[in-house]
Amino acid sequence: MVSQYNAADIEQKWQKSWTELGLDRTPTDSDQPKYYALSMFPYPSGSLHMGHVRNYTITDVIARVKRMQGYQVLHPMGWDAFGLPAENAAIDRGVPPAQWTYQNIAQMKEQLQQLGLSLDWEREVATCSPDYYRWTQWLFLQFYEAGLAYQKESAVNWDPIDQTVLANEQVDNEGRSWRSGAKVERKLLRQWFFKITDYAEQLLTDLDKLTGWPDRVKTMQANWIGKSVGAYLEFPIKDSQEKIAVFTTRPDTVYGVTYVVLAPEHPLTALVTTPDRKSTVEAFIAEVANESEIERTAEDKPKRGVLTGGIAVNPFNGEEIPILIADYVLYEYGTGAVMGVPAHDVRDFKFAKENQLPIKVVILPDDADNSDICLLQAYTEAGTMVNSDGFTGMISPKAKTAIIDYAERNGYGKARVQYRLRDWLISRQRYWGCPIPVIHCETCGTVPVPDADLPVKLPDQVEFSGRGPSPLAKLSDWVDVPCPCCSQSAKRETDTMDTFIDSSWYFLRYTDAQNSQQVFDRDRVNHWMGVDQYVGGIEHAILHLLYSRFFTKVLRDRGLVNVDEPFNKLLTQGMVQGLTYKNPKTGKYVIAKDLETGKLLIDSSNPTDPETGEKLQVFYEKMSKSKYNGIDPQEVLAKYGADTARMFILFKAPPEKDLEWDDADVEGQFRFLNRVWRLVADYAEKAVKPVTAKSLSKAEKDLRRSIHQAIKEIAEDLDGDYQFNTAISEMMKLSNALSSATCIESSVYREGIETLLILMSPFAPHITEELWQLLGHQSSIHQQNWLTFDPDALVVDEITLVIQIMGKTRGTIQVPASATKEELEKYALSSEIAQKYLQGKEIKKAIVVPGKLVNFVAS
Ligand SMILES: [Zn+2]
Repeated sequence: MVSQYNAADIEQKWQKSWTELGLDRTPTDSDQPKYYALSMFPYPSGSLHMGHVRNYTITDVIARVKRMQGYQVLHPMGWDAFGLPAENAAIDRGVPPAQWTYQNIAQMKEQLQQLGLSLDWEREVATCSPDYYRWTQWLFLQFYEAGLAYQKESAVNWDPIDQTVLANEQVDNEGRSWRSGAKVERKLLRQWFFKITDYAEQLLTDLDKLTGWPDRVKTMQANWIGKSVGAYLEFPIKDSQEKIAVFTTRPDTVYGVTYVVLAPEHPLTALVTTPDRKSTVEAFIAEVANESEIERTAEDKPKRGVLTGGIAVNPFNGEEIPILIADYVLYEYGTGAVMGVPAHDVRDFKFAKENQLPIKVVILPDDADNSDICLLQAYTEAGTMVNSDGFTGMISPKAKTAIIDYAERNGYGKARVQYRLRDWLISRQRYWGCPIPVIHCETCGTVPVPDADLPVKLPDQVEFSGRGPSPLAKLSDWVDVPCPCCSQSAKRETDTMDTFIDSSWYFLRYTDAQNSQQVFDRDRVNHWMGVDQYVGGIEHAILHLLYSRFFTKVLRDRGLVNVDEPFNKLLTQGMVQGLTYKNPKTGKYVIAKDLETGKLLIDSSNPTDPETGEKLQVFYEKMSKSKYNGIDPQEVLAKYGADTARMFILFKAPPEKDLEWDDADVEGQFRFLNRVWRLVADYAEKAVKPVTAKSLSKAEKDLRRSIHQAIKEIAEDLDGDYQFNTAISEMMKLSNALSSATCIESSVYREGIETLLILMSPFAPHITEELWQLLGHQSSIHQQNWLTFDPDALVVDEITLVIQIMGKTRGTIQVPASATKEELEKYALSSEIAQKYLQGKEIKKAIVVPGKLVNFVAS
């Protein structure tokens, strides 16, 4: 009797054995080509979710295949461990953030190990460990030395509940904090910035080098950087020496300017405001101060503005135009002022209509016979210039360059490229982050902490009230230090860094994770970089990936790494979605399953709300606690084992597509593994001595073809696009071919069994290892070479020929694949089928389709 497949037993056994053997350790003394396979590291929330499982399983299969293909593979894991949740846990539960974080890391590490991931844990990093953040601080000082880290007073998004500054990306479309949900306020604070704008052009043009990235990610980055080419123009203020600078991508419309708008925070606002407008202007400024940037610039919101009473002069035609302030103009963007051309800009047109400002047409469509068209809506296309002095009659794209030239000659302005990208605000007024390593001295100013004094450690004894400024600012023992330059009393910086800094270089640290002397050894980092395959969620398409690219370029310019780009290939895996029940009337999500037993609580054929009896909507949506549609990886592992979970996740959808969780399909993969188990264990038990025949029988040839077909197809599935789902289909086909094969005594059958296990081993590493050993092998299946197919085995020497009489199929026969047209007709004619159906008839014609069929026309 063949033993049963018991996932729990064998998975634990092999995980332990692999660790002891050091199978997943990165080779450092090999001449093999290198391969760096990397998953985006998790935030240690405490428990793995299915999205993690999917991400890490995909990378693991790639790492395992590459190892078997003869690469030396680096496949590390770590923890993006600083951040707000740990600090909130400290506030809510009184647990120190470090303790909470390290507990969660231990818990999640155990879960990761249960998945059978071939990770090199000797290179584990945690960004909250002083061994790591010492180097984050050192890198900050590299940026500082390069003039890329600076402080400035800045209007920031202030979360009144968490009492901290938020990045723009942490504010949702309604102007609320991503975390606390509080309405975000504007506040002026002195903040640290990284000068990412210095690298805007490189970050944009180098996107072309990223041929292994999805186009949509590159497009998102390009849009985020937002390059526009245009002109910088200056409008003199009447009765003043001051000028208002604007940037425009449409200098060809400059004769159509009918007003100028300043951001309410613009320093010239006070100067241009006339006494009679003062109270109105001040009231408006106060009102706008409480709006978030997102609210101010929302597309669907009416643009509000007020006249300042001030007058500007259009230097091109001397026209006097009013100066307004408006909420939609942001001081942080561009020059903080815009010229208004309502005739040729959609937003300006709307604003002019709402505020009764004049509209002046200066470009006409080529087929227009009058200018009325522009008064109904803005005309934003190219056309012929009108009302534009010497430029009248020109086509507008040509006028663009001509007007910029004219402006440069007359001192009105110049050509300029502008980016939407702004400098990266990195200050956080929070405790659980990497301290910014500078000291403020009244005499010496901002002084970097000397390298020898790094790391600036986070103090342990901290009180968390959840209110007020950073908890660090209240610790005078920590804050008050002598100045490193003049030794007089000085103060530490109390801001910590945005956690996106920690994750902008962790992939570099993995290449030399235990180095206590330097950030990393140059040779090691240059040996492993760039990352050959990066795998992670699309939600990181902009920030994390852009910041990592920025870091890499800065470190390259500092001589620390020799690559331009960190990630050669990027795979953004799709979401894992769960079946979701929602009451469309109340908008509430309904718990459909008993969380303990997994039993359905509602009738799935006619789902109704247990509370109200109303009919429920049923659909798939990203798994989330609040929607009661999540599946806990622990449950799946406990019930089926890691191999089934991995196979299901890889089989259910191609990696970049969303995956709909389906228990029946999980069950299906479990059954497949059981079939493989019986097939191989049964064979092993029979202890067959394989016989190698001098020439192969038809059954052997057929089986050998199936074997090499599987090797070939799976190689194609894994090459480039990682179509794991179709690769698993091929494994199933091979398993079926082996089940129905009759040549068990043959060495070909043995080849088939071993091929199936080797091909499956990166996908289901435990069961294949167990069965491999059952076959009598001493070394691990994961140390075997990947297989290449034998083209000779694929040659088909017989084909199935369809025989038709008067177009009707009457049967099939086997014929040599090499038969000519004439021979095919002969085989067909002499077959029993033709003899039977053609008896007593006269054959008029035989239609032969080579390789397929013969059709007899007879009467
Ligand atoms: Zn000093």
